Amino acid sequence: MRALILGGTGAANRLADCLARARIDAIYSYAGRTKIPLGHSLPTRIGGFGGAGGLAAFIRQENISHVIDATHPFAAEMSRHAVDACAATGTSLIALERAPWKPVAGDRWIEVPDIIAAVTALPEAPARIFLAIGRQHLAPFAKRPQHAYTLRFVDPHDGPLPLPHADVIVSRGPFTLAGDLDLMRSRGIEWIVARNAGGDGARAKIDAARGLDLPVILIARPALPERPRAESVDDVLAWLAHGARLGA
Ligand code: NAP
Repeated sequence: MRALILGGTGAANRLADCLARARIDAIYSYAGRTKIPLGHSLPTRIGGFGGAGGLAAFIRQENISHVIDATHPFAAEMSRHAVDACAATGTSLIALERAPWKPVAGDRWIEVPDIIAAVTALPEAPARIFLAIGRQHLAPFAKRPQHAYTLRFVDPHDGPLPLPHADVIVSRGPFTLAGDLDLMRSRGIEWIVARNAGGDGARAKIDAARGLDLPVILIARPALPERPRAESVDDVLAWLAHGARLGA
């Protein structure tokens, strides 16, 4: 067995440490988006593969027998390539995919299918908005230049932003409820735009919004092809150990 983890998430790092401790032969792959990716103890490669064909070639070249797609739920392109490359090479694939958040009493969510719909859902009147999405998705919000945006990035931002009124906080999760309550109160945030990432690391802003009775424009996950899924690191370990087929 030789495993490939498609990573870039906290869960992928926890899985990597488990595989290293269990002495399972594995490689961890980063896209290379962040300047200092968080450490773990597996051999690592960094950078795109060059599409599904490039990933298939990598799988063959490295004799990969099992691929674990532990990318962020919004990293849809990588996930689609993993499905195609594993089908083309006959490689076992599982996605480590946390469940999306579900609304609870007190949540004021406006659920939208994508970024463009999130822009449309913003109010017309100028407002202070916590835009909790990846930096590569900011441009569509330039259509609503009247708002004051607070952005949170893992690394400092180089170069101009596409938004005229934007303030960048540099911070790496996991975030806490107390910290996000403080952020929203101190900046007078009135609206939150977020993606339904699921999991605990990014959930503080959703809980803080409920605590402050603020509306959240919540972007749904992108549609992905059917593939076997696991919700926990333990489930992936069981799949590797027994070849178990988990929820399609
Ligand atoms: P994406 O749109 O699905 O991927 C775009 C391209 O980046 C892929 O086609 C692939 O290039 C390359 N890539 C993505 N993940 C890779 C990986 N783990 N190893 C090697 N190449 C990878 O992905 P994204 O949304 O830009 O996310 C990039 C990375 O950041 C992912 O690893 C993801 O887990 C992590 N991340 C993303 C988010 C998010 O909000 N999207 C949040 C936290 C962490 P090629 O086609 O050349 O192979």
